[in-house]
Formats: sequence, structure tokens, C-alpha cells
Amino acid sequence: MLKGACHCGAVQITLQRTPRTITNCNCSICRRYGVLWAYYKSSSVGLKAQTADLASYSWGEKSIEFVRCAQCGCVVCWKPLGRTQADYRMGVNVRNFDPARLMGARLRRLDGASSWRFID
Ligand SMILES: [Zn+2]
Repeated sequence: MLKGACHCGAVQITLQRTPRTITNCNCSICRRYGVLWAYYKSSSVGLKAQTADLASYSWGEKSIEFVRCAQCGCVVCWKPLGRTQADYRMGVNVRNFDPARLMGARLRRLDGASSWRFID
């Protein structure tokens, strides 16, 4: 079990297991946010927050949304919008967790800006 939170603590995140892989993506939004993603099924991610403490951002085709803490601004996760399966795949920003707990994970560089391939 891995517990994390945004900077102010209004959003609490719980993961069932530590990630094996962490993704650093260079796409237009990820490079600006400076996030590191780990991917999980939504059923294994616990998000605890008041509705008023969550804000989101999406653009273009609006197929996914980026969720952040409305108080401190830390990016929490991305998840699909619209028609989705009950147990969907989502990305969790592992920057909200103790770095010492992530030391065993492999860091990958994803070229989300163009080829959608790993470039490391
Ligand atoms: Zn916060």
C-alpha cells in the first residue's frame, strides 16, 4: 500500500502497490505540469477529496481530463472522459508520493509529443 497526497493534503491518494514503471512524457501538457505517471486500473486507485477541492482540465477532443487539487494546484491524475468502462485505465502523478518509495521503479521517457514511443 502506498499513500500520497497533494501539497496541502486536501487530496489523498492510495495505491495498492508501488509502480514498477514510471513514465516521464514530453507531450505539451505533461512537460508543462512536470508530472511523472504510473498507470493503474481505476479500481486499484483510492482518491479521497471533497468535490470542491478537485478541479480538472481538458482540451481538444476532451477524451481525457487532468485532475488537480483546487487548493494547492498539484496535479493528481488523468482519467478518461465520456463513455468509459467501469474499471478504466488512468494515470497517477507519482510526484505526490514519497520518492524513497519509488526508488525501485524504472523511469521511462515517453515521446508523447510525436512518436508515442519510449525514447530511452
Ligand atoms: Zn492540495
